[in-house]
Amino acid sequence: MANDEPTQNSEILEDDVNAENHIATVKKLWYYLWPVGRADLKSRVILSMIFLVMAKVLGIFVPFLFADAVDILTGENTVDGTMIAVAVPIGLIFGYGTTRVLAQAFGEIRDAIFVKVGQNALRKIALNTFRHLHLLSLRFHLERRTGGLSRVIERATRGIDFLLRFMLFNIIPTILEIIMISSIFWIKFGFIYAAITFLCLSSYIYFTIAVTEWRLKYRREMNKQDTKANGRAIDSLINFETVKYFTSEDHEASRYDKSLKNYATAAIRSQLSLTLLNVGQGFIISGGLVAVLIMGANGVARGQFTIGEFVLINSLLIQIYMPLNFLGFVYREIKQALVDMEKMFMLIAKNPEIKDKEDAIDVVLDQGEIEFKNVCFHYSSDRPILKNVSFKVKGGTTTAVVGSSGAGKSTISRILFRFYDISSGSVTVDGQDIRDVKQLSLRKKIGVVPQDTVLFNDTIKYNIAYGNHDASDEQVFEAAKLAKIHSFIMNLPEGYKTEVGERGLKLSGGEKQRVAIARTILKNPSILLLDEATSALDSQTEQEIQASIEKISQQRTAIVIAHRLSTIINANEIIVLDDGKIIERGNHSALLKQEGVYFVMWQKQQQLNEVQQKLIELEKK
Ligand code: ATP
Repeated sequence: MANDEPTQNSEILEDDVNAENHIATVKKLWYYLWPVGRADLKSRVILSMIFLVMAKVLGIFVPFLFADAVDILTGENTVDGTMIAVAVPIGLIFGYGTTRVLAQAFGEIRDAIFVKVGQNALRKIALNTFRHLHLLSLRFHLERRTGGLSRVIERATRGIDFLLRFMLFNIIPTILEIIMISSIFWIKFGFIYAAITFLCLSSYIYFTIAVTEWRLKYRREMNKQDTKANGRAIDSLINFETVKYFTSEDHEASRYDKSLKNYATAAIRSQLSLTLLNVGQGFIISGGLVAVLIMGANGVARGQFTIGEFVLINSLLIQIYMPLNFLGFVYREIKQALVDMEKMFMLIAKNPEIKDKEDAIDVVLDQGEIEFKNVCFHYSSDRPILKNVSFKVKGGTTTAVVGSSGAGKSTISRILFRFYDISSGSVTVDGQDIRDVKQLSLRKKIGVVPQDTVLFNDTIKYNIAYGNHDASDEQVFEAAKLAKIHSFIMNLPEGYKTEVGERGLKLSGGEKQRVAIARTILKNPSILLLDEATSALDSQTEQEIQASIEKISQQRTAIVIAHRLSTIINANEIIVLDDGKIIERGNHSALLKQEGVYFVMWQKQQQLNEVQQKLIELEKK
């Protein structure tokens, strides 16, 4: 099993994964088609197999009835030299029609019985993958390409669907049919007929697979150029404004056309190679058919076979050749389906980086005291981020973390939320090491307002209520009021039902932040992590919301990360972080007295504030 390390991600999302272990993939799929404890589904599989065999047996019976009718009509089957009454051939023709219908109906019944098994397997696989993706670490999700990942799932489910449809209901029945028809030839017409038929089929299959393998490169090229052309077109349309700014319409069109031209070249080559495949297949089939029919005609001439038997040879051969028409396509698609499925199973097999210990228990919080003891951490081993960081946040108090950009402030909150495990030291909450407790129980107790808020593409109400799916409307409104966003929402034409757009882009940065604060209030956590929670707000709104935040923080343990120092002057302790190390700590006034880094930061911000104030006054004048 692969760990979800960076190098593995790109591998899974590559287009040309070398899937050698197709049998293992089919076995994994079988586990879903033959699910443990689902006797109903298993009996469906068995029943559909029975119908599959019955349909094929009946299908083979059809040409026999036709041959008998031909014999009677040509006077081959006579009683004492007189032709049997016309009712007999008509009866046979009716029998022929009925058997044909039945053979087809059994095929349809087989599909109808199996569809539940197939759909159940598809649902289970898609759900398992989705659940597993949520189990994988933040590291995995930061390094993946969302588009690539959804394509893997989409293509794999399509692949499974195809595989089930064709493997079970095309390839297996055809093999069954070939075996039955070859045996009939052997028994009824002799070994040489069976041998020629078998030889012809083998060369047909060999030729088809060989040519399909050879022309795969044209198909790949076509797909590549198609993706490229699409990518270019989408990128160009996304950048609509930029194209206009630089009047680059012609440039964009010629770039698009270049990809289209490459696609057309590959498509033409692919079509020509398909023609070659089809002509070759036709040649082999006709060769085999002609050889066997000449022998059959000789047999008729020698009185060895009847005309009906001659017709039977032709009908049986056509019957096996027909499904083979699509062999090239089916072979190619099954191969692709196996590769696509393999990629998805590789995803499911990925080990989550952050795992609960076997004996992990639910975290129990009383005071909500947080302690970082000699914590060292890195995202990649060649670049340490936190260097021996130690601090304690007493239950119910607020600690602020300040420092230059990239110092490691947000990293502290990610570690506490256990998005990553530390390399040495310990992080405890009320004395329990966070690596010893269940992640889910820990995360339930922590509320995070992240630096960049991303919202679901749904209504404002849905996004706020995400903090507590069981919250009543009143609770949602209350949270929105505390986050100072209620009146804004009420003034919108659609109020709480307003859609926020993809990732929440229809709201301003400050509005998104307030929605994020409201949903965290609704979660009602014991520990609060506010990572620049008010950075996108104007100072007036920030001051208003500050009062709410302080109110919410009162009974909770809070870690507040902030650039604007005016928002954290009331914190019980302020930690100044620089390059992953704590360089100063104390409350606001103590830090100012030290006249160190914090003091300098404060001075600079004060000066900036004064300049801004003057500018505002000038503007007013
Ligand atoms: P800011 O004030 O700009 O938000 P910060 O102090 O919160 O900065 P962090 O987000 O903790 O900084 O990041 C600390 C360092 O770790 C940065 O230099 C950043 O480039 C790096 N870093 C953050 N996330 C990752 C990641 N997933 N993989 C690798 N490096 C990362």
